[in-house]
Amino acid sequence: ARPAVMDESTGPGRTADGHPVPLMANISNPTDLPAALENGAEGIGLYRTESLFLDRISPPDHDEQVAAYRVVMEAFPTSQIVVRPLDLGADNAPDYLQAAVEPNPALGERGLRMMRRVPNLLAGQLAALAEADRSSEAELSIVGPMVTDVDDAAWFAAATAEAGIQRTGALIEVPAAALRAHRIAESVGFFSIGTNDLTQYVCAADRNIAGLSRFQDPWQPAVIDLVAVTTQAARETQLPCGVCGTAVADPLMACVLVGLGATSLSMDASALPLVRTALSRATLEHCRAAARAARAAPHAAEAKRAAREALPGVA
Ligand code: PEP
Ligand code: MG
Repeated sequence: ARPAVMDESTGPGRTADGHPVPLMANISNPTDLPAALENGAEGIGLYRTESLFLDRISPPDHDEQVAAYRVVMEAFPTSQIVVRPLDLGADNAPDYLQAAVEPNPALGERGLRMMRRVPNLLAGQLAALAEADRSSEAELSIVGPMVTDVDDAAWFAAATAEAGIQRTGALIEVPAAALRAHRIAESVGFFSIGTNDLTQYVCAADRNIAGLSRFQDPWQPAVIDLVAVTTQAARETQLPCGVCGTAVADPLMACVLVGLGATSLSMDASALPLVRTALSRATLEHCRAAARAARAAPHAAEAKRAAREALPGVA
């Protein structure tokens, strides 16, 4: 019998030579779930929970949160679901969080820093997640935003353990955490690299300022270097290391990230088919060669060009 012709834009993510790379979806809302399912997401690599807490005068209570988390677990009943608890800062926190007015919210009390000021909010969120998880076979993981040092990672891991949650990870999106990832690894079970903030911080370019787009580019070789530092630390400590920033939606960059050692990729659901196709056309060795070529380049545009040249027929 003739082998079935596989449509390379569906099915689980894998390189041309068969190395599996789970391709997951980023979601911010239950309304993002249909697209994640239609595009064949293998799980939820980043569930941003902020929308549950915004535009209201008090935080959602326990039952409302449990119900919201169950909707996601029911859509992906046996898959990995990585939930990011509140990542809010002075520029977007609701009034009930009483955030200070800050001149520079990207460098302020956001993510884990905010959680550490109002730990009950995180405890409530984790309790609701743990309860939703008890009636589900999904594989729940919790990832801490804006982990900056080992103390942050240990504090966050203690909070999730207290709630009875088994799988805890660190978002690696602050350069300090990337540079010390080998030590952060002592507290957590996985990394997820957030290239949006990692780029903003390593290039010192506020992601909300449109005129700085040259620096808000994950092809900046310094960003690729920090991804490499992180994936190397993950390899050495045997931790899984996903990537979940917007950069993943670029099929060429997705291949470079796999070449650097990313073990899963999570993206806007609409990007899944093109990323899946690109990966299916590149061997792991092609991906590694593209990563080496990008890191050797002098600047972002050249890094992308060099990666494309190393990945013929991919994108
Ligand atoms: C990131 O920083 O890359 C990330 C995934 O999270 P967000 O864009 O929500 O900050
Ligand atoms: Mg971020």
